[in-house]
Amino acid sequence: MSRPSQVPLIAQAERHGRRFAVVDGQGSFTYNDLLDASSRVATELLAGHDDLREQRVAFLLAPRFPWVAVQWGIWRAGGVAVPLPVNATRSELEYFIDDTGASTLVFDAQAEPLLGPIAEVRDIRALRYDRILAHQPAELPDVASERRAMILYTSGTTNRPKGVVTTHANIAAQITSLIEAWEWSADDRILQCLPLHHIHGIVNVVSCALWSGATCEVLPRFDANAVWDRLAGSSLTLFMAVPTIYVKLIAAWDAAPPERRAVLSQACAKLRLMVSGSAALPVSTLERWKEISGHTLLERYGMTEIGMGLSNPLRGERVPGSVGTPLPSVEVQLVGENGQPIAPGMPGEIEVRGPSVFAEYWGKPEATRDAFRDGWFRTGDTAVIEDGVYRILGRTNIDILKTAGHKVSALEIEEALREHPAVAECAVVGVPDLEWGERVAAAVVLNDGGALDLPSLRIWAKEFLAAYKLPSRLLVLDALPRNATGKVTKPAIKAMFRDADSSN
Ligand code: AMP
Repeated sequence: MSRPSQVPLIAQAERHGRRFAVVDGQGSFTYNDLLDASSRVATELLAGHDDLREQRVAFLLAPRFPWVAVQWGIWRAGGVAVPLPVNATRSELEYFIDDTGASTLVFDAQAEPLLGPIAEVRDIRALRYDRILAHQPAELPDVASERRAMILYTSGTTNRPKGVVTTHANIAAQITSLIEAWEWSADDRILQCLPLHHIHGIVNVVSCALWSGATCEVLPRFDANAVWDRLAGSSLTLFMAVPTIYVKLIAAWDAAPPERRAVLSQACAKLRLMVSGSAALPVSTLERWKEISGHTLLERYGMTEIGMGLSNPLRGERVPGSVGTPLPSVEVQLVGENGQPIAPGMPGEIEVRGPSVFAEYWGKPEATRDAFRDGWFRTGDTAVIEDGVYRILGRTNIDILKTAGHKVSALEIEEALREHPAVAECAVVGVPDLEWGERVAAAVVLNDGGALDLPSLRIWAKEFLAAYKLPSRLLVLDALPRNATGKVTKPAIKAMFRDADSSN
């Protein structure tokens, strides 16, 4: 048996022994099972060496127990974990593997046909999970918490995704901040149905659960009815998701017969907390969810580079449309375009400082330098403080439109347009315009049987929005383009408006 781990998350797990860590539909696995499987993975990865010394190990497995065993195995061997997205194309996977210079790929049988050939062409070591557990665990290295632990790729809206490097200490700070704020304990049980190549699922759900000695119940992929079945049939205490998931859960509840609706709504009462984040939560969704479940969703704000930064309170008032105040150990400030202080109540860019902030963009020293100002990470998000709580106005260079000399928040216009009876979903972007600088352009998805044209939308919206905020372009779509984490991809919407222009 190896010495106690210095990796903070794994050192915690060593205290939880026989408690259940992961329940994934194929079995119930204790913390001891996880420690045993991950030490075998580490042993295989080490192949007789004493330490991987931060070699990158990319892995693609279904999000079940083996996924966690591999992530922890990489850490215990001294490697840097690079979780690959399920559903990525071959060329996307090749980009992540080449960009990180991964020395080894680990995958399950399902991913073998895709990753096997990628490894072969590059002469990279390829390991199939089910074939690497046989070895008796060897002595594992001491891995100091300042060492690099993980590379996650940011969604990458315009340029190719950048690899965000976090150390073990960064990850520990991200976890402990949330554990304190949301009062995680070993009695918790959370449902994991988020993609495991993104901070939300990896840190907020899985890592917080495993630090606490809680149980993580895993759904291999999101399915609204399956989530409802778990909410109704299991002893969950926590649920965390992105806004689109709540929209889908609401649609599934609406489609259920009345008796089942009552059962589902009642089931929500036993949870102690339901959280939304990773994108703006429409107030209409928050309100509808409250009607259905009785829960006021706790909205928080975070980013791959910083972990979680701002959160509504666990206890106390949660303000719809706001993301609350800074989380424990996170410092937040709003600044003007040149980093200057802003007047109270004015919008500014969010800058963040603290131990949870990432170490660097992998292999991109210039991008890393540009991302910081005087030790503060520049998030690229704009917010305003109103009545003591932060409200996110959006990505500074995408969601803050400059039209007729005014700065306008796309999120605020979206919030208003969603109130239109014909609108099911919408996304607002700025399209370049010689006269106005940018024009407000709205892409909408209509409710069944709904109809909408621009003149009638403008007349309706005049009641809620100042004239310069009214859309002057409208596109009706069957669905909004979204990335794997459910976030609307606004550059794709801008391109649709451009295409519509060029075909006119
Ligand atoms: P990611 O790094 O993929 O998690 O994306 C982080 C980005 O998501 C942030 O920079 C924000 O633009 C956005 N985001 C996260 N949480 C929220 C929220 N509660 N409201 C609005 N935007 C959010």
